[in-house]
Amino acid sequence: MRITNVRAVQPVAANSPPDWRTSLGQILVAVDTDSGLTGYGVGGGGFAGIHVVRTVLRDVLLNQDPDQIDDLWQTMYQSTLAFGRKGLAIMAISGVDLALWDLRGRASSQSVAALLGSPNPGPIPTYCTVWNELDAHLADEHQAFKLHLERPQGEAGIDAMYESVATVRRKIGDQRGLMVDAWMKWDVDMTLRIGERLSDLDVGWIEEPLSPDDWNGYEELRERCPIPIAGGEHEFTSIGFEGIIARKLHTILQPDVCWCGGLTELIRIYERAQTAGIRVCPHRGAEIWSLHAIAALDRDPLAESGRPWMTWVKGQPSIVNGLIEVTDGPGFGIEIDESNLPVMNYDEWSEN
Ligand SMILES: [Mg+2]
Repeated sequence: MRITNVRAVQPVAANSPPDWRTSLGQILVAVDTDSGLTGYGVGGGGFAGIHVVRTVLRDVLLNQDPDQIDDLWQTMYQSTLAFGRKGLAIMAISGVDLALWDLRGRASSQSVAALLGSPNPGPIPTYCTVWNELDAHLADEHQAFKLHLERPQGEAGIDAMYESVATVRRKIGDQRGLMVDAWMKWDVDMTLRIGERLSDLDVGWIEEPLSPDDWNGYEELRERCPIPIAGGEHEFTSIGFEGIIARKLHTILQPDVCWCGGLTELIRIYERAQTAGIRVCPHRGAEIWSLHAIAALDRDPLAESGRPWMTWVKGQPSIVNGLIEVTDGPGFGIEIDESNLPVMNYDEWSEN
Protein backbone atom coordinates (compact mmCIF):
# COMPACT_ATOMS: atom_id res chain seq x y z
CA MET A 1 0.00 0.00 0.00
CA ARG A 2 1.26 3.47 -0.89
CA ILE A 3 0.14 6.97 0.04
CA THR A 4 -1.38 8.80 -2.92
CA ASN A 5 -2.49 12.03 -1.25
CA VAL A 6 -2.52 13.87 2.08
CA ARG A 7 -5.31 16.41 2.43
CA ALA A 8 -6.28 18.86 5.16
CA VAL A 9 -9.24 21.17 5.70
CA GLN A 10 -10.73 23.08 8.61
CA PRO A 11 -14.38 22.06 8.97
CA VAL A 12 -16.84 24.70 10.09
CA ALA A 13 -17.48 24.12 13.78
CA ALA A 14 -20.67 25.95 14.71
CA ASN A 15 -20.52 27.35 18.25
CA SER A 16 -16.74 27.23 18.49
CA PRO A 17 -15.50 30.19 20.53
CA PRO A 18 -14.36 33.37 18.73
CA ASP A 19 -10.70 32.98 19.70
CA TRP A 20 -7.65 30.91 18.69
CA ARG A 21 -9.70 27.73 19.13
CA THR A 22 -11.48 28.77 15.91
CA SER A 23 -8.88 30.86 14.06
CA LEU A 24 -6.25 28.15 14.72
CA GLY A 25 -8.82 25.42 15.27
CA GLN A 26 -8.99 21.70 14.70
CA ILE A 27 -8.22 20.46 11.20
CA LEU A 28 -9.28 17.26 9.49
CA VAL A 29 -6.43 15.34 7.84
CA ALA A 30 -7.13 12.62 5.27
CA VAL A 31 -4.47 10.19 4.04
CA ASP A 32 -5.48 8.50 0.77
CA THR A 33 -3.89 5.31 -0.52
CA ASP A 34 -3.73 3.28 -3.72
CA SER A 35 -5.74 0.55 -1.94
CA GLY A 36 -8.78 2.81 -1.94
CA LEU A 37 -8.67 3.18 1.84
CA THR A 38 -8.51 6.63 3.45
CA GLY A 39 -7.46 7.24 7.05
CA TYR A 40 -8.70 10.25 9.02
CA GLY A 41 -7.16 12.18 11.87
CA VAL A 42 -7.65 15.49 13.63
CA GLY A 43 -4.85 17.94 14.26
CA GLY A 44 -4.61 21.58 15.24
CA GLY A 45 -3.33 24.85 13.89
CA GLY A 46 -6.17 25.94 11.58
CA PHE A 47 -4.95 27.38 8.29
CA ALA A 48 -1.37 27.45 9.55
CA GLY A 49 -1.60 23.71 10.19
CA ILE A 50 -3.20 23.12 6.79
CA HIS A 51 -0.36 25.07 5.16
CA VAL A 52 2.24 22.84 6.83
CA VAL A 53 0.39 19.71 5.65
CA ARG A 54 -0.03 20.94 2.10
CA THR A 55 3.42 22.41 1.55
CA VAL A 56 5.74 20.17 3.59
CA LEU A 57 4.23 16.99 5.07
CA ARG A 58 2.40 15.92 1.92
CA ASP A 59 5.61 16.04 -0.11
CA VAL A 60 7.52 13.76 2.24
CA LEU A 61 4.65 11.26 2.57
CA LEU A 62 3.66 10.74 -1.07
CA ASN A 63 4.41 7.21 -2.36
CA GLN A 64 5.49 6.03 1.11
CA ASP A 65 4.19 2.90 2.89
CA PRO A 66 1.61 4.27 5.39
CA ASP A 67 2.20 1.40 7.81
CA GLN A 68 5.75 2.57 8.62
CA ILE A 69 4.36 5.05 11.12
CA ASP A 70 7.45 5.45 13.33
CA ASP A 71 9.66 6.17 10.31
CA LEU A 72 7.10 8.55 8.79
CA TRP A 73 6.78 10.39 12.10
CA GLN A 74 10.56 10.92 12.19
CA THR A 75 10.50 12.07 8.57
CA MET A 76 7.75 14.60 9.33
CA TYR A 77 9.56 15.80 12.46
CA GLN A 78 12.82 16.25 10.56
CA SER A 79 11.11 18.03 7.67
CA THR A 80 9.65 20.64 10.04
CA LEU A 81 12.64 20.93 12.38
CA ALA A 82 13.67 24.43 11.26
CA PHE A 83 10.32 25.93 12.26
CA GLY A 84 8.63 23.15 14.23
CA ARG A 85 9.54 21.14 17.37
CA LYS A 86 6.63 22.65 19.34
CA GLY A 87 3.37 24.39 18.54
CA LEU A 88 1.60 24.65 15.20
CA ALA A 89 3.83 22.34 13.14
CA ILE A 90 3.52 19.53 15.70
CA MET A 91 -0.24 20.13 15.84
CA ALA A 92 -0.30 19.52 12.07
CA ILE A 93 1.86 16.39 12.36
CA SER A 94 -0.54 15.13 15.05
CA GLY A 95 -3.42 15.07 12.56
CA VAL A 96 -1.38 13.16 9.98
CA ASP A 97 -0.13 10.67 12.57
CA LEU A 98 -3.67 9.95 13.77
CA ALA A 99 -4.79 9.46 10.16
CA LEU A 100 -1.98 6.91 9.69
CA TRP A 101 -3.13 5.02 12.81
CA ASP A 102 -6.73 5.10 11.58
CA LEU A 103 -5.52 3.71 8.26
CA ARG A 104 -3.55 0.94 9.99
CA GLY A 105 -6.72 -0.09 11.82
CA ARG A 106 -8.92 0.11 8.74
CA ALA A 107 -6.40 -1.92 6.69
CA SER A 108 -6.32 -4.70 9.30
CA SER A 109 -10.02 -4.46 10.31
CA GLN A 110 -9.06 -3.81 13.91
CA SER A 111 -9.78 -0.97 16.29
CA VAL A 112 -6.85 1.18 17.38
CA ALA A 113 -7.38 -0.09 20.94
CA ALA A 114 -6.97 -3.64 19.63
CA LEU A 115 -3.81 -2.62 17.75
CA LEU A 116 -2.49 -1.34 21.09
CA GLY A 117 -3.17 -4.71 22.69
CA SER A 118 -6.57 -4.33 24.30
CA PRO A 119 -9.30 -5.83 22.10
CA ASN A 120 -12.13 -5.57 24.64
CA PRO A 121 -11.47 -2.63 26.93
CA GLY A 122 -14.20 -1.87 29.42
CA PRO A 123 -16.02 1.34 30.20
CA ILE A 124 -13.91 4.35 31.20
CA PRO A 125 -15.01 6.86 33.86
CA THR A 126 -15.37 10.44 32.67
CA TYR A 127 -14.95 13.89 34.13
CA CYS A 128 -16.54 17.07 32.91
CA THR A 129 -14.80 20.44 32.62
CA VAL A 130 -16.95 23.48 33.45
CA TRP A 131 -16.39 27.22 33.66
CA ASN A 132 -17.16 29.22 36.82
CA GLU A 133 -20.00 27.06 38.09
CA LEU A 134 -21.63 23.66 37.71
CA ASP A 135 -25.13 23.41 36.25
CA ALA A 136 -27.31 21.23 38.45
CA HIS A 137 -28.27 18.93 35.57
CA LEU A 138 -24.61 17.92 35.07
CA ALA A 139 -23.99 17.02 38.68
CA ASP A 140 -25.03 13.38 38.27
CA GLU A 141 -23.66 12.79 34.76
CA HIS A 142 -19.93 12.39 35.43
CA GLN A 143 -17.70 10.78 38.03
CA ALA A 144 -15.61 13.91 38.53
CA PHE A 145 -15.62 17.60 37.65
CA LYS A 146 -13.04 20.24 36.87
CA LEU A 147 -13.64 23.91 37.40
CA HIS A 148 -11.86 26.58 35.34
CA LEU A 149 -10.75 29.42 37.60
CA GLU A 150 -9.67 32.90 36.57
CA ARG A 151 -6.78 34.84 38.11
CA PRO A 152 -8.22 36.15 41.39
CA GLN A 153 -7.86 39.79 42.41
CA GLY A 154 -6.53 40.14 45.96
CA GLU A 155 -7.74 38.35 49.06
CA ALA A 156 -11.38 39.07 48.19
CA GLY A 157 -10.84 37.33 44.86
CA ILE A 158 -9.38 34.28 46.59
CA ASP A 159 -12.32 34.26 49.03
CA ALA A 160 -14.76 34.34 46.11
CA MET A 161 -12.80 31.56 44.40
CA TYR A 162 -12.97 29.44 47.54
CA GLU A 163 -16.74 29.91 47.63
CA SER A 164 -17.20 28.86 44.00
CA VAL A 165 -15.10 25.71 44.49
CA ALA A 166 -16.88 24.95 47.78
CA THR A 167 -20.25 25.37 46.04
CA VAL A 168 -19.31 22.74 43.44
CA ARG A 169 -18.03 20.43 46.17
CA ARG A 170 -21.39 20.72 47.96
CA LYS A 171 -23.28 19.99 44.70
CA ILE A 172 -21.33 16.83 43.87
CA GLY A 173 -20.87 15.51 47.40
CA ASP A 174 -17.79 13.87 48.89
CA GLN A 175 -17.59 10.81 46.69
CA ARG A 176 -16.78 12.35 43.33
CA GLY A 177 -13.58 13.96 42.15
CA LEU A 178 -13.10 17.72 41.93
CA MET A 179 -10.20 19.44 40.20
CA VAL A 180 -9.41 23.03 39.20
CA ASP A 181 -7.73 24.51 36.10
CA ALA A 182 -5.86 27.85 36.10
CA TRP A 183 -4.95 27.74 32.37
CA MET A 184 -1.49 29.26 32.88
CA LYS A 185 -2.79 32.45 34.56
CA TRP A 186 -1.36 32.23 38.09
CA ASP A 187 2.14 32.50 39.56
CA VAL A 188 4.00 30.52 42.21
CA ASP A 189 2.98 32.63 45.23
CA MET A 190 -0.65 32.81 44.15
CA THR A 191 -0.77 29.04 43.54
CA LEU A 192 0.65 28.35 46.99
CA ARG A 193 -1.88 30.67 48.62
CA ILE A 194 -4.77 29.13 46.69
CA GLY A 195 -3.46 25.62 47.33
CA GLU A 196 -3.50 26.27 51.08
CA ARG A 197 -6.93 27.91 50.90
CA LEU A 198 -8.54 25.03 48.95
CA SER A 199 -6.87 22.29 50.96
CA ASP A 200 -10.03 21.35 52.90
CA LEU A 201 -12.11 20.81 49.72
CA ASP A 202 -10.39 17.58 48.58
CA VAL A 203 -9.20 19.06 45.27
CA GLY A 204 -7.59 16.31 43.16
CA TRP A 205 -5.26 18.57 41.22
CA ILE A 206 -4.47 22.15 40.26
CA GLU A 207 -4.00 22.21 36.50
CA GLU A 208 -1.48 24.41 34.67
CA PRO A 209 -1.12 27.17 37.26
CA LEU A 210 2.05 28.50 35.52
CA SER A 211 3.44 28.91 32.03
CA PRO A 212 4.56 25.52 30.64
CA ASP A 213 8.07 26.99 30.42
CA ASP A 214 8.33 27.92 34.11
CA TRP A 215 10.07 24.73 35.17
CA ASN A 216 11.69 26.29 38.22
CA GLY A 217 8.28 27.50 39.35
CA TYR A 218 6.81 24.04 38.91
CA GLU A 219 9.70 22.57 40.87
CA GLU A 220 8.89 24.90 43.76
CA LEU A 221 5.19 23.95 43.60
CA ARG A 222 6.08 20.28 43.64
CA GLU A 223 7.93 20.85 46.91
CA ARG A 224 5.49 23.20 48.62
CA CYS A 225 1.95 23.02 47.18
CA PRO A 226 -0.43 20.83 49.25
CA ILE A 227 -2.49 19.96 46.15
CA PRO A 228 -0.97 17.88 43.31
CA ILE A 229 -0.06 19.77 40.13
CA ALA A 230 -1.25 18.64 36.68
CA GLY A 231 0.02 19.89 33.34
CA GLY A 232 1.23 19.13 29.84
CA GLU A 233 -1.81 20.18 27.81
CA HIS A 234 0.43 22.74 26.08
CA GLU A 235 3.59 20.64 25.82
CA PHE A 236 4.71 18.93 22.64
CA THR A 237 6.30 15.59 21.70
CA SER A 238 7.77 12.94 23.97
CA ILE A 239 11.00 14.96 23.95
CA GLY A 240 9.16 17.86 25.57
CA PHE A 241 7.62 15.56 28.16
CA GLU A 242 10.91 13.82 28.89
CA GLY A 243 12.27 16.73 30.94
CA ILE A 244 9.01 17.17 32.84
CA ILE A 245 9.04 13.46 33.70
CA ALA A 246 12.73 13.45 34.65
CA ARG A 247 12.28 16.38 37.06
CA LYS A 248 8.87 15.08 38.21
CA LEU A 249 7.39 18.55 37.70
CA HIS A 250 3.81 17.29 37.45
CA THR A 251 1.93 14.59 39.36
CA ILE A 252 -0.49 14.16 36.45
CA LEU A 253 0.49 14.57 32.77
CA GLN A 254 -2.14 15.77 30.30
CA PRO A 255 -0.89 15.44 26.72
CA ASP A 256 -3.38 16.35 23.98
CA VAL A 257 -3.10 13.72 21.26
CA CYS A 258 -4.30 16.13 18.56
CA TRP A 259 -1.53 18.60 19.45
CA CYS A 260 1.39 16.75 21.08
CA GLY A 261 2.45 14.77 18.00
CA GLY A 262 -0.36 12.25 17.60
CA LEU A 263 -0.85 8.74 18.93
CA THR A 264 2.76 7.77 18.21
CA GLU A 265 3.90 10.37 20.73
CA LEU A 266 1.09 9.74 23.21
CA ILE A 267 2.17 6.07 23.40
CA ARG A 268 5.77 7.12 24.10
CA ILE A 269 4.60 9.59 26.76
CA TYR A 270 2.54 6.84 28.42
CA GLU A 271 5.53 4.49 28.40
CA ARG A 272 7.93 7.02 29.91
CA ALA A 273 5.45 8.34 32.47
CA GLN A 274 4.41 4.86 33.61
CA THR A 275 8.03 3.84 34.00
CA ALA A 276 8.51 6.86 36.27
CA GLY A 277 5.29 6.17 38.18
CA ILE A 278 3.52 9.32 36.92
CA ARG A 279 -0.15 9.30 35.99
CA VAL A 280 -1.28 10.27 32.47
CA CYS A 281 -4.73 11.79 32.01
CA PRO A 282 -4.96 13.05 28.41
CA HIS A 283 -6.51 16.44 27.69
CA ARG A 284 -10.13 15.98 26.43
CA GLY A 285 -9.57 12.24 26.53
CA ALA A 286 -13.24 11.38 25.86
CA GLU A 287 -12.76 12.50 22.26
CA ILE A 288 -12.10 9.42 20.19
CA TRP A 289 -8.48 10.30 19.30
CA SER A 290 -7.22 9.72 22.85
CA LEU A 291 -9.88 7.30 24.00
CA HIS A 292 -8.39 4.21 22.34
CA ALA A 293 -5.03 4.85 24.01
CA ILE A 294 -6.69 5.41 27.38
CA ALA A 295 -8.67 2.19 26.94
CA ALA A 296 -5.62 0.15 26.01
CA LEU A 297 -2.77 1.70 28.01
CA ASP A 298 -4.11 3.46 31.08
CA ARG A 299 -3.90 1.85 34.54
CA ASP A 300 -6.10 4.47 36.20
CA PRO A 301 -8.26 5.75 33.34
CA LEU A 302 -10.24 8.98 33.48
CA ALA A 303 -11.48 10.63 30.29
CA GLU A 304 -12.13 14.38 30.11
CA SER A 305 -15.28 15.55 28.32
CA GLY A 306 -14.61 16.72 24.78
CA ARG A 307 -15.22 20.00 23.02
CA PRO A 308 -18.97 20.43 22.47
CA TRP A 309 -18.44 22.13 19.10
CA MET A 310 -16.52 19.16 17.64
CA THR A 311 -19.66 17.71 16.06
CA TRP A 312 -18.31 16.90 12.61
CA VAL A 313 -16.59 13.65 13.65
CA LYS A 314 -19.43 11.14 13.44
CA GLY A 315 -19.69 7.84 15.28
CA GLN A 316 -17.98 8.92 18.50
CA PRO A 317 -19.29 7.03 21.54
CA SER A 318 -21.41 8.98 24.01
CA ILE A 319 -20.87 9.46 27.72
CA VAL A 320 -23.60 7.61 29.63
CA ASN A 321 -23.84 7.82 33.42
CA GLY A 322 -20.24 8.93 33.75
CA LEU A 323 -18.83 6.18 31.54
CA ILE A 324 -17.62 5.96 27.95
CA GLU A 325 -16.55 2.93 25.94
CA VAL A 326 -14.63 2.58 22.68
CA THR A 327 -16.36 0.78 19.86
CA ASP A 328 -14.67 -2.06 17.98
CA GLY A 329 -15.08 -0.56 14.51
CA PRO A 330 -11.88 -0.48 12.43
CA GLY A 331 -9.39 2.29 13.14
CA PHE A 332 -10.87 4.91 15.44
CA GLY A 333 -14.33 3.65 14.51
CA ILE A 334 -15.48 7.05 13.27
CA GLU A 335 -17.10 8.28 10.07
CA ILE A 336 -16.34 11.42 8.11
CA ASP A 337 -18.83 12.41 5.42
CA GLU A 338 -16.59 14.55 3.24
CA SER A 339 -19.37 15.12 0.69
CA ASN A 340 -21.41 16.90 3.34
CA LEU A 341 -18.77 18.74 5.33
CA PRO A 342 -18.74 22.56 5.26
CA VAL A 343 -15.15 23.79 5.49
CA MET A 344 -13.75 27.21 6.29
CA ASN A 345 -12.52 29.40 3.47
CA TYR A 346 -9.44 31.32 4.51
CA ASP A 347 -10.03 34.33 2.26
CA GLU A 348 -13.61 34.79 3.42
CA TRP A 349 -12.73 34.20 7.05
CA SER A 350 -9.79 36.61 7.14
CA GLU A 351 -11.93 39.49 5.91
CA ASN A 352 -14.16 39.25 8.97
MG1 LIG B 1 -6.65 22.61 30.93
